[in-house]
This record gives sequence, C-alpha cells and structure tokens, in this order.
Amino acid sequence: MKKKVIIIGAGLAGLSTGIYLQQSGIDTEIFELSGWAGGMCSAWVRNGYRFDGCIHWMVGTKPGNDYNRLYREVGALEENTVIYNSDSIFLELSGTMYEIPMEISKFRAFLHTLSEEDGEKIDALCDDITVMIRTKMPAGAPSNLSELLGFVRHSRGFIKLARKHIGRTVREVAQTMESPSVREVLTSLLPPDFSAVALFMMLGTRMGGNAGYPMGGALEMIRRMEAKYRGLGGKINFHARVEEIVIENGRAAGVRSKGTFYPADAVVAACDAHDTLQNMLGGNYEHPQLNKLLKTATLFDPLAVISFGLTKKFGIPYSKTYECPEGIAVAPGVLQHSFSIRSFDFDPSAAPDGCSSVMVMTGAPLDYWQKLRSEDPEEYAKQKQKLAATIAEAVERRIPGFKEAVCVVDIATPATYVRLANLYRGSFEGFAPTPAALKTTIKKRVPGIRNFCMCGQWTTTGGGICSAVSDGRRAAKLITKDLKR
Ligand SMILES: Cc1cc2nc3c(=O)[nH]c(=O)nc-3n(C[C@H](O)[C@H](O)[C@H](O)COP(=O)(O)OP(=O)(O)OC[C@H]3O[C@@H](n4cnc5c(N)ncnc54)[C@H](O)[C@@H]3O)c2cc1C
Repeated sequence: MKKKVIIIGAGLAGLSTGIYLQQSGIDTEIFELSGWAGGMCSAWVRNGYRFDGCIHWMVGTKPGNDYNRLYREVGALEENTVIYNSDSIFLELSGTMYEIPMEISKFRAFLHTLSEEDGEKIDALCDDITVMIRTKMPAGAPSNLSELLGFVRHSRGFIKLARKHIGRTVREVAQTMESPSVREVLTSLLPPDFSAVALFMMLGTRMGGNAGYPMGGALEMIRRMEAKYRGLGGKINFHARVEEIVIENGRAAGVRSKGTFYPADAVVAACDAHDTLQNMLGGNYEHPQLNKLLKTATLFDPLAVISFGLTKKFGIPYSKTYECPEGIAVAPGVLQHSFSIRSFDFDPSAAPDGCSSVMVMTGAPLDYWQKLRSEDPEEYAKQKQKLAATIAEAVERRIPGFKEAVCVVDIATPATYVRLANLYRGSFEGFAPTPAALKTTIKKRVPGIRNFCMCGQWTTTGGGICSAVSDGRRAAKLITKDLKR
C-alpha cells in the first residue's frame, strides 16, 4: 500500500515538500490554515491591481545554478518566465538621494566618488562582491559524495566568503571605512546587526543577475507550484488549521484538525516553528537549536505593508527609500523616520494600462496592532485607514499628486501576517541572519519523534524563498528515508 504523508502548511516549503514526495510515489495531503496557498509568499488582486507582498529579490533566478534548477523542478519558474533585474536602488541618506548601481563596476565607481581615503578598502569590498557574483550558491547541504565534490568545486568562492565574513556584522564591515557616507550606505543596505555574509550575498546575487523578480510575481509563482502539486495527485485542505501533531510510540502518527484525527505514516511541519513545538507538540519535545533560538535570537522586525492602486504612473522605481524626518505615526507614540516605496511598473500585468500599482513598507509594532485587532475590531479598521492616510500624506510630500491618483488602498498590519500565517512575533522571514544565528545549524528533526521533520523559513536562518523551496526537497528526502525503514 502507498505510504501517506501529511504536510502542515501550503507555503513554499510545504508545496515543495509535497511536489518532491508525490514525485517519489508517496501520497501527500496538505493542511493549510488560510484559504489559499503561498503563506508569506503571497500577492493579492484588488480591482485589477496586483500587489506583491513578497518578492523583492529572489535568489537563484539566473539559469545554471542549483536554486534555478530547483525552481524549475517545482514549477516556481518555467523555461519562459521573464526575470526582471533592477539596475539600481534608491536610498535617501542624510538628505541626499543616492542611486546605488547594482552593477559591480558602477557600484565600485559610486563608492569611490563618496570617499577618496577608502580607495583600497572599497576595492577589497568590491573584490569580495565579485567573488560572490562568480560563485555558485549551494542549495542546501550535499547529501552524498558526488554532491559534496560538486559543492566544493562550484561553490569554492561562496565557502571562502562565508568563512571570512560570517562572524562579522554589516556594521563592523562598515566601520572599517573612514568615510561616514560609505559607512551610512553600507549600514542602510541591510540592518547593521546582520552578518556581513548576508550583505555580500544580497549585493553579489543582485549584481550577478541572480536575484531578480519573475514577471507575474508571487501570484503566478504560487499558482504554478500549486498546479504542479495537484497535477501530481497532491491534495490541499484549506481553512484546516492543525491543532495537534499526534505522536504514538515515538512516531508521528497523524494530525488533529478541527477535532478530527487524520492518520498518516509521517508528518512534515512546513510552518511556524513556535506553533509546532509549543502548541502542536504541546511543548513536550526539546529541539536543541530551535528552543534556544526562539527565546534568544533576533527576528525580522514586523512590517506594515500599505498598497495603493494609482490611476497614473509617477515613474516610481523598483525600490526607493525616503527619509521622513518629521516621522510617520505607525502606532500611538511610535514614529518611523523613513519609508520604502516600490512600484511594479516594470510588470504590465500588475495594473490596468497607464496605471500603477505601488507598495509602501514600514516597520510597525506588533503588540499594538494585535491587541487592537483582538479587542476592538472596529477601532482596528479605523486605525488601519488612518495609517494608510498618514502614509499617503507622507508620500504626497515627496511625490506631489500622489494622493489624488489613489483609487485602491489595501492595508496589511503586522497583525494581518499573524492572522494569515500564524507567524511567530510577526517575523516574516524567521530568524534574522546575525552572525550567531547563521553559525547555528538548525536540525530538521526533533529528538524523540520518528517519521517527522520540520522545514521552511524557521529551519534555515534568514529564511526566504530559496531556503523554503530547497528545504522542501530536503524534508522530502528525510521522510522518504524514514518510510523505507
Ligand atoms: C513583505 C515580505 C517581503 C518578503 N520579501 C522577500 C524577498 O524579497 N526574498 C525572499 O527570498 N523572501 C522574501 N520574503 C520571505 C519569504 O516570503 C518567506 O521566507 C517564505 O515565503 C517562507 O516560506 P515557508 O513555506 O517557509 O513559510 P510560510 O510562508 O510561513 O508558510 C507556512 C504556511 O503554514 C501555514 N500554517 C501555519 N500554521 C499552521 C497550522 N497550525 N495549521 C495549518 N497551516 C498552518 C501558514 O498559513 C502558511 O501558509 C518576504 C516576506 C514578506 C512578508
């Protein structure tokens, strides 16, 4: 008889796990708490405008590397998927708007214009970015000797860079520079406490044309993966929150959802780690890395995403960050002093002809929004509208005519993410890639439970699309091995 695996979560990791398991002849069924697939990799359509709440840079979009191969295997990308690579990003710093080139020789020249005294250090930094551009990013750990040999041969540059920079923060790298402007640019590209490896990875993959945006965005990508999974015989239950992972004699025996027990030969938790360990497993199992990280590690800051459908285009680029010295109130007494705006004008399918779909992202406190949502839904709705109006006002000051062009508004607060994906502390990519977290290898297994594993953004520091998809393949391999025993 065919073996049956239950997967919790229809995000990228869950869909990827399901696709690989179905391909190896194992029956799977996904339980997903929301009404659609995608999890954090979601987009939504409002009155003909599509807002992509996920993809900014998708590592592995360039053909010829491991991630690209994985994306094609699971249908995330197809042969003819057009990839958009933005050639610069805009950052306003201390009153100056910089256009930061995403091409290495131009980036080098740009940094040299900011600082003569840092010439050699800038060259060394750019040389390391060049190594990153030329290396192949390994998609997960090798699982046999031939994979190991390929890994060492193709990813030598990445391994060298990781060794050199994993223990340093972005701030420490920036502080080696004399020029305050160069320091400010570097620490604004990624949070200063992140490992410098994340900075080299971000710049190297983007400059190498290997972290672009697939046209159609998250919406089309998830549609393709869901279709692939269903085409292989996979089944998804929506609005099906799993309350308990049932363990019998030290083995995962199924799940309980809405009070009903669903038996299985194995279970994969491709969802939030805190919910898995503390709620679904009742806090009865100690995970050596996750229990510690969930208590101590830095998480990604919760976000509010305010999307606007505009009746015209304003030439807003792929990504532009404005300073806002007067502050934007994102909760009572909490001011943000910058906001990032991005438009999808490069993708004609994102808005009606001549119109524009744009998105503003800003940090916002989770506790305020969650408390309001649970205690006073009416006031929550009112405050959401107020936040959107405040943001539109701030954008208007920088882009005159913006407010008048707004015809659609959509607001996601940090509480929205928790509601939709059960996200621990609203951290939309799991554990932040600080040096300490990056040095921790998170095991997919939970000691004491057979035929069970975890996967997804909480089991690979830094999370992201590439990790979720490759984690799915890893989980499928582990479970296939279990089922052969
Ligand atoms: C605004 C934003 C921007 C981002 N930008 C980028 C980017 O540019 N590049 C990049 O690589 N990544 C980006 N990410 C992160 C990326 O989207 C995620 O890391 C990735 O999608 C995580 O996938 P996952 O499958 O591991 O987890 P999730 O997407 O969280 O999927 C888990 C699924 O499990 C479901 N679930 C949870 N608990 C239960 C339960 N008890 N029962 C049933 N179902 C359950 C959830 O509803 C969810 O669908 C961004 C995310 C956001 C929100």
